[in-house]
Amino acid sequence: MQSNLTITCPFCSLLCEDLNGSEINGRLYVQTQGCEKASTCFAKPPLSPLARVSNRTVSQDEAIGEAAQLLRGAHLPVYASLDTDVDGVRAVISLAKRTGGVIDQITTPCASVLALQSSGCITTTLTEIRNRADLIILIGAQVETHFPRLINRCLQRTETLFNQPSAQPEIIVIGEASHIPHATTIPLAEHLLPEFIAMLKALLVDVPLQAQQVGEVSISELAALVKRMQQINYGVIIWHTESLNTGHIDLVVQALCELVKAFNKITRFAALPLEDGVTARQVCVWQTGFPLRINFSRHFPEYNPWQFSSQRLLSTKEADTLVWISSFAHTQLPDYDIPTIVLANQLPEGSRPPDIFIPVGTPGLDHSGYLFRVDQAVVLPLQQCREAGLSSAAAVLKKIEARL
Ligand code: SF4
Repeated sequence: MQSNLTITCPFCSLLCEDLNGSEINGRLYVQTQGCEKASTCFAKPPLSPLARVSNRTVSQDEAIGEAAQLLRGAHLPVYASLDTDVDGVRAVISLAKRTGGVIDQITTPCASVLALQSSGCITTTLTEIRNRADLIILIGAQVETHFPRLINRCLQRTETLFNQPSAQPEIIVIGEASHIPHATTIPLAEHLLPEFIAMLKALLVDVPLQAQQVGEVSISELAALVKRMQQINYGVIIWHTESLNTGHIDLVVQALCELVKAFNKITRFAALPLEDGVTARQVCVWQTGFPLRINFSRHFPEYNPWQFSSQRLLSTKEADTLVWISSFAHTQLPDYDIPTIVLANQLPEGSRPPDIFIPVGTPGLDHSGYLFRVDQAVVLPLQQCREAGLSSAAAVLKKIEARL
């Protein structure tokens, strides 16, 4: 048993680094600061380190040999999910280069990257928000569900960097009613978000409008919001990209970025897009010069977010092997009838078991590692908290590459 462990939580990209807990028989019990998601994920018992090939229990070494054999015969393997730490992503990129494969996160849209490429964006960090923001606009109440401690860590101040009383920021939620104390909600159906953003921009730049409302929000409420946004000193618009349920998410993100830019002509405004899988994207840019999705089949990195979509490649059967990497939460394996290798911290859900399953540890629990935080400004170190005999995804991927 180890007690009084200081823990950095890897179970969402906020990476809260102020948790405290104890380890008892391989389970970690969070005692202070953790949210429900952290408590549940840390308290799970460790997985058996034994691997599975065609539903047979085998040693890790045998499974690595089988995986190498499968990849040796593959014409276009797809490496997807990429839910691992910095070392793990580096190892995936190296293996994809060697086998001429495609890398893609599959579940995470490329919306922010596409918006950034089209028009740029003024973004901010958690620290800036905590210390300076006086108006926060949250798009969608789902932000609280996906990033449970965002409100507690950034929007409910107990102290700031500055030697003066820390006033609480004003919080406005656009969407469903929220449980955030003192927040004002502007009720808006999700599909009306593009229209809502366009109306705010039009009112800001004084374009005459024929419409008198968006959903139940009247033009006078919109005008009052625009006026409020002009009066403050540091405003932030926060959204969870994967929850934007509007279609053409890249265009919605681009419109939000443009809105932030427009308000910067009057006062200071910034965006904070909240996304998972930040580490894979950042390491990919740093290693190859491109964001995801990348194809190495011509022995150099080719970037094309449409052509190399793993979902497209798998459904058209252009790809002939799937390698799924998931070191954190429980994931859903996409249902494609092709040979599948899974490296994960638990057997993923899916209609059929993977051909090869190799258990791997979770960074920050079973082994040390590094992860990028959601604002992409900080890389945080994670410490090992228990000894369950589970290898890191990076170690397994390197062994597969060595056996090719
Ligand atoms: S908010 Fe995220 S990082 Fe923080 S404790 Fe909860 S799951 Fe962990």
